[in-house]
Amino acid sequence: MMMNKNLFKSLNYLSLAFIFFWTLALGGLFFWAETKEEAHVIEYAKKEARANFNKDIALRNWVAQRGGIYVKVSEQTPPNPYLSHISNRDIKLPSGETLTLMNPAYVLRETMEQYGELYGIKGRITSLKPLNPINTPDAWERNRLVEFEKGELSEVYEVSNINKKPFLRYMKAFVTVPSCLLCHAHQGYVVGDIRGGVGVSIPLEPYLKLKRDTIETLQISYGSLWLLGLFIIGSIYRVGRNSISHQYAIEKKLLIAHQQAQEMAEHDGLTGLANRRLLAKVLHQEFKRAVRNQHHLSVLMLDIDHFKHFNDTHGHLLGDEVLVLVADAIQTSCQRPSDFIARFGGEEFIIILPQTDYHGAYKQAEKIRKKIATLCIENNNMGFSVSITVSIGIDSRIPQKLQTPEEQINHADQALYKAKEQGRNQVV
Ligand code: GH3
Ligand code: MG
Ligand code: MG
Repeated sequence: MMMNKNLFKSLNYLSLAFIFFWTLALGGLFFWAETKEEAHVIEYAKKEARANFNKDIALRNWVAQRGGIYVKVSEQTPPNPYLSHISNRDIKLPSGETLTLMNPAYVLRETMEQYGELYGIKGRITSLKPLNPINTPDAWERNRLVEFEKGELSEVYEVSNINKKPFLRYMKAFVTVPSCLLCHAHQGYVVGDIRGGVGVSIPLEPYLKLKRDTIETLQISYGSLWLLGLFIIGSIYRVGRNSISHQYAIEKKLLIAHQQAQEMAEHDGLTGLANRRLLAKVLHQEFKRAVRNQHHLSVLMLDIDHFKHFNDTHGHLLGDEVLVLVADAIQTSCQRPSDFIARFGGEEFIIILPQTDYHGAYKQAEKIRKKIATLCIENNNMGFSVSITVSIGIDSRIPQKLQTPEEQINHADQALYKAKEQGRNQVV
């Protein structure tokens, strides 16, 4: 039984360990997948930033290689005051119309602004020495431009908020090429100088939404996988538990059968009292203890008077009932836990009263005798009730080493014989 308890315990610990490691493994995998997804999203945004940047630079180079482009002067395209140092900034046509020069930065800024309005992707040209104040760098751009000039960086990516919305900011150093000199030579730039930076800001919200959706899918799949694992562990646990319970039940049945066999071997089938075998065991123990402690030990032998006659008159079945009633009456009269009652055989009973002298034993015997005399035994066949009497012989002594328990039984038997001789229904 103990083994089964330990098995249950081990099974519980094992299942808990499985749940713990399963949760840990899936939690770890989920965390890894989530981190990877985050990196993917930023990677996609970077690709978009770079693609935009390349398009901007291609346009700028195209314009720069042609020395700028001339457009009609209009409300949207007034002559650029920051190019007034260029002699042919404005050209008057024979028709009277005026064309004005748009330099690469101007063209780029115009297209960037329109693109930003349409698609939210904000392009920027900036410089530490801007011709047009609109190109003045913000704090982040200024720091990056300083790093570009020092040669510490040539491009930079950063996730930051613009107007409380998340953006991926990208900026690359812009190196002075010969075509720049038309507009910027007067600022002291020479070919190869870092003249500023061109950047682009990609709104991250669509990417973050993509990330959220993917993580939601991951959560559902990992959650389902986790639950499936728990279900499998639970099923294995149940199977284990059932098989242990089954084994436990078999062991219990065997134990009960063993106990029953022992009970039957040492008890009387009719009255349930101890039989001669158990009596011998207990009497020996009590005798030894009384010798050791020099206590009184009383042995009572009880025999039903004229029981043969009773059986002959009322039948053996009722005789058996009487034996059970007598056994009960003795049991209810002897309440001390140390009192011991046995069916000695036939209609004879032995009662052992440890630590009881003759006086005490006599009182107890009288109590039993009187109780049995008041029993009402119904004979249903004959339609009346009868009573019975018993005789009791006592041997009380402080047992000595050389004496034996059997001697005490014999003395009690002799006392019983006397009680019978003296007319029965009495204690001697
Ligand atoms: P007394 O003891 O008064 O001298 O007379 P008695 O008739 O009781 O004589 P004895 O003790 O010798 O008789 C024992 C009788 O007990 C014999 C038998 O009929 C009866 N007896 C013994 N065992 C059983 C039993 O298990 N069931 C029944 N019904 N009767 C039993
Ligand atoms: Mg007898
Ligand atoms: Mg008798």
